[in-house]
Formats: sequence, structure tokens, C-alpha cells
Amino acid sequence: MSSYVPPLEDHKFVLNHVADLEEISKLNGYQHADPVTVATIVEEAGRFFAEVMEPINRVGDEQGSTLDDDGQVHTPEGFKEAYEKFVESGWPAAHLPAEWGGGGLPYTVGVVIQEMFKTSNMAFSLAGMLTQGAVEALVTHGSDDLKAQYLEKLISGEWAGTMNLTEPEAGSDVGALRTKAVKQDDGSYRIFGTKIFITWGDQDITDNVIHLVLARTEGAPPGTRGISMFLVPKYILDAEGNPGERNDYRVVSIEHKLGIHASPTCVISFGDAGKGAAGYLIGDQMAGMRNMFTMMNAARIGVGMEGLALTERAYQHALTYAWERVQGRPVGAPAEASVAIVEHPDVRRMLLTMRANTEAMRCLLYYAARSGDLMFHSESEGRREFESKRLALLTPIVKAWMTDLGVEMTSLGLQVHGGMGYIEETGAAQYFRDARIAPIYEGTNGIQAMDLVLRKLPIDEGKVVEDLITEMSEVLGALAAHEDLSIFREELATAIQGLAETSAWLGERLAGGEFDDALAAATPYLTQFGTILGGWLMAISAVEAKKGPADFSRGFLTQKVNTARFYGEHILPKANGLVATVKAGNTLLADADLSRS
Ligand SMILES: Cc1cc2nc3c(=O)[nH]c(=O)nc-3n(C[C@H](O)[C@H](O)[C@H](O)COP(=O)(O)OP(=O)(O)OC[C@H]3O[C@@H](n4cnc5c(N)ncnc54)[C@H](O)[C@@H]3O)c2cc1C
Repeated sequence: MSSYVPPLEDHKFVLNHVADLEEISKLNGYQHADPVTVATIVEEAGRFFAEVMEPINRVGDEQGSTLDDDGQVHTPEGFKEAYEKFVESGWPAAHLPAEWGGGGLPYTVGVVIQEMFKTSNMAFSLAGMLTQGAVEALVTHGSDDLKAQYLEKLISGEWAGTMNLTEPEAGSDVGALRTKAVKQDDGSYRIFGTKIFITWGDQDITDNVIHLVLARTEGAPPGTRGISMFLVPKYILDAEGNPGERNDYRVVSIEHKLGIHASPTCVISFGDAGKGAAGYLIGDQMAGMRNMFTMMNAARIGVGMEGLALTERAYQHALTYAWERVQGRPVGAPAEASVAIVEHPDVRRMLLTMRANTEAMRCLLYYAARSGDLMFHSESEGRREFESKRLALLTPIVKAWMTDLGVEMTSLGLQVHGGMGYIEETGAAQYFRDARIAPIYEGTNGIQAMDLVLRKLPIDEGKVVEDLITEMSEVLGALAAHEDLSIFREELATAIQGLAETSAWLGERLAGGEFDDALAAATPYLTQFGTILGGWLMAISAVEAKKGPADFSRGFLTQKVNTARFYGEHILPKANGLVATVKAGNTLLADADLSRS
């Protein structure tokens, strides 16, 4: 079994040469996050996650979380102790607001820390991710009272947060939810209803669990317009602000799942004893969906990160195995000249495909996070608006492109192991099973593609996409200066041209009201877009590596160029194959006979 080794040199390279941490560290409030300090922080975080979270990843998968007869969830062996260390270390709060006790690091650095948590132990990392989402929703929309009562403990990680949207009849269509909120004389609410699939909906690692619940107040209209957001604690706070009376809800069951076994996925019945669970309105009444999007947008980036994290982990695992497994020999070599499978071109192709996609995903993640910092901290209002739209465009791509790749790449990792990959004891299968949820939750990837085409592409009549395409083209000049990057340059130029073509085609369909054609094209368009963004950022990586920055080893820089070229010459060309798929539209889908005989 391989253990996780944080790829610190790559973290540093992407942070400094793709996400331009230097620029971020000049923003107001981030001056303490200069590249040298950040490198030390990232190294320490890497040590923590590799030493504390990775060793319980396997036991988490094998034991899973369990529910006892009293409705209390128990986490696997070692989780409670590891979580205590997590809170003590301060990592949960690293990029959260300093005024509430957080570390105040840029989001761009926060995602590096989160990536390492996810890579070392994805199932456990979900508890931290949802808590951070709850913090962001409270900071942005909560009243001063709620902030004073809950924020500090959520930020430190002493209490954990959850996100309660889904109900049996309300999945992708959140607007169909039925959970009710009844107003009380003191201004609080009583919540009644059943939520399903609630990640870390209960556990035994924190003193309180703070649920953010979407519900409908009495008389509210149907659909998303009538939804409000409530804070529902497991233990109602007493006069001193400590967890007191147990709130009226019950964990009815936890799901048996394909992967992320350590993460308890709960069915929760609010108001189970008839009294109703005490809840407190967050933000305005009927603004719940808008407010929840604060949490969901951060969580979408967080889930996209899971594709990267599990690919990194599966790659490291597969690479170790490829060196250990001796099988076969080069064509024409004598029978006794068997070699480790890492020598075979096809195995090298699989490994390099995983590595190139990992690095491309890392670039996109840090690049998107950079927009997150600039949209809040840039001095210029125009820049803040520009970056906010840029991040809005990138979010569904980060979520869906990266998680689809996560499934494909962890499957490839399993393939490198041959038959042993299919056997649980090697551990390769866990990454594949864990990765499979990411395209489903936090808005399925189909819903992300619809968001990209129906909401993001039309922003400012398509100008946000056009600006990005123009910016992508700028790297072509730099590529032209290097002969060994000429094929990459040609492929990227063709791919960017293809993206301009499909974007225009979709714009015409939307303008003409041909929505089914646009929706049929949404997923291949998103894949095309993501693949090209990866190509663009890997091209920047190659150009930057060729400048030979002094604080990187020669071996690392040579391999960075080689891996970038592999992306440009072997992976990027697939994007152009999607132009025809996008433009094929809906005709064949509509004409297909899918009736059940
Ligand atoms: C392990 C796990 C953890 C989860 N954690 C949470 C959590 O913490 N909190 C929470 O609230 N929820 C959570 N969920 C719920 C999750 O977000 C939903 O499962 C997801 O949004 C999809 O909803 P659904 O399962 O009802 O599928 P459906 O909405 O029934 O979708 C089924 C299929 O139809 C497609 N589809 C649906 N509507 C459309 C449409 N209009 N156009 C095109 N295609 C469409 C979907 O893309 C999908 O492929 C979790 C789920 C799981 C399995």
C-alpha cells in the first residue's frame, strides 16, 4: 500500500506561476500570504494530512460510520482523535475570516489545504467542507446575533455544519421541497419535514451539529421563490451559548453506499417528536435559495476538487504498483527478461494521462480560486465585477469537468493494477468508488452543464466567454517561441477556434429559442470547455517552466514541460472531436424510441 506524499513542488509551481500568488499577496488583507510564507504553511499542512488523515482513510472505508438504536451516529476508529488534532492545529480555519478567529489566508491558499485534506481522506474532508460552506453562508447572510452565537465555534471546527436541501421528491428540482417552517411568537421557527442524503448529518466528533435547512414558511409560494434558509442546531444553545436541550429531530437511517463509507449520509426527520425542530431564519424570508447558493458555489468548487484529489491519490498508488509488478517484456526480448510494467508504453500512457490531467485540474482549481480572491479583494470595482463573472463561468466547469475526470482517472488507476485493481485489498478500488459520488452530488454534472449553457454563457451577451477565449489566445505567441511546443501550439489554436465556434453555435440556438438543441449539447460543450481550459493552463505552465525559475529543480521543470506537452499532444486534440458532437443538437435524441416494450 502506498501512502500519500503531498506533491509540494507542484503545489508551489501552480500557486506561483499559474495563479500568480505574488499578485494575490499584494491585495488588501493578504500581505501576510507572501509566497515564501505560504510555501512553509503548505508544507506543514501536507505533513499534517499525510500523517494524521491518510492513515485512517482505509479504516474509514472498511468500517464506515454506523447508527445506533438511539439515533446517534458513530464514526470509524480514530476519526474522533484525528478530528481533535485537526481543530487543535487550526487548519479548519486557515482561510476563514480573521475577524471571527480564522487564519485569514487567501482562498487560493485555502484550496491547496483543502485539496490535501481531500487527497488524504476524501470521506472525512466532507465534514470540513460543509462546515466552511456554513460559515460562508452565515458570514454573508446571518444576523449579528446568529454570527455572535455560532460563527466562532464553526470557524474553529469545534462545531460542524451541514447542508440540508434534498428530500424524497426534491432532488435536482430543489424547488419541489415540502419541509415546513412555522413562525413562533419569539420570532424563531419550528421545522417539520424529512431531508434525505444529508452528508455528515450527524456524528460523534463535535459537541454540536449546525444544520442549514431549506424550508417553506406558511403561505410561501411554490417553487424556489418560496424557500427560506434556517439554522437548526442539534443542541439548542442555553443562556451561556453552550449546547443545551436536544432539538426535535431524529436521524432515521444512514445510507449504505458505493464509496465514502466514513461519511455518514443521513435521513433526518425534523419535528419527529411533534414539537418541531427549533430553527432560526438566516437572511431574508424567501431568499433561501439565493443564500444557499453562497454555500453551494463554494461547495461546487470543493466537490470539483475531489476529482483532482482522488486522481492524485490514484496516480501515486498506480505508480508505486507499476514499479513493483513484474510482468511481460519488451517486444523481441528473451523470455527471462521480464520487466516492471512501468516499462511498457501502454502503462506509461495510462500513468502520464493521469499525471497530465492531475496537473491540468490543479491549474484550473487554483486559477478559479484566484478569481475568488480578486472578486472580493481587488481595489478596482471593475476588476471585482470581472472576476466575479469569471468565477461564475468557471464554477460549473470546475465541478463537472474535474469530477468526470476523477471517475475516468481513478478507473485508469485501477486498470494499471490489472486484476489486482479489482481486488479490494490493493486499495485502488476505494479511490474509484469514492470518486463516483462527485459527479452526482452538489448538483449533478448534467445540471452543471445546463447551468453553463443557460446561465453562464449568456452573461453579458456572451462577452464573459469571449473575453476568456481572447485571453486564452494570448499564450499562443509565447508558445511560438519554443520549437518543441509547436505541435502544442497548433493543437491549442485549433481547440480555441473550436470553442469559439461551439460557443457561437450555442448562442444562436439560445437566441432562436431552440433550447432542446442547446441542452442536448450542454455536457459535450462543458467537456470541450474544460479540456481546453486545461490545455491553456498547461501551456502557460510549459512556458513558465521554460523560464527556469530558480527555486525549482531542473528535473521538475523538465518533467513539467514534458507533461504539458503530453497534455497538448495526446489529450487536447480530443476537444476538437467534440465540436461535431455539440453541433449535432437534439434531433437524434428526440427521434430515439426509448419506450419500454
Ligand atoms: C452520498 C450523497 C451525499 C449527498 N449529500 C447531500 C447533502 O449533504 N445535502 C443535500 O441536500 N443533498 C445531498 N445529496 C443529494 C444530492 O445532491 C442529489 O442526489 C442530487 O442533487 C441529485 O438529485 P436526485 O438524487 O434526486 O436525482 P434526480 O434529480 O432524480 O436526477 C436523476 C437524473 O436525472 C437528471 N435530471 C434531473 N433533472 C433534470 C433536468 N431538469 N434536466 C436534465 N437532467 C435532469 C440528473 O442529472 C440525473 O442524472 C447527497 C447525495 C448522495 C448520494
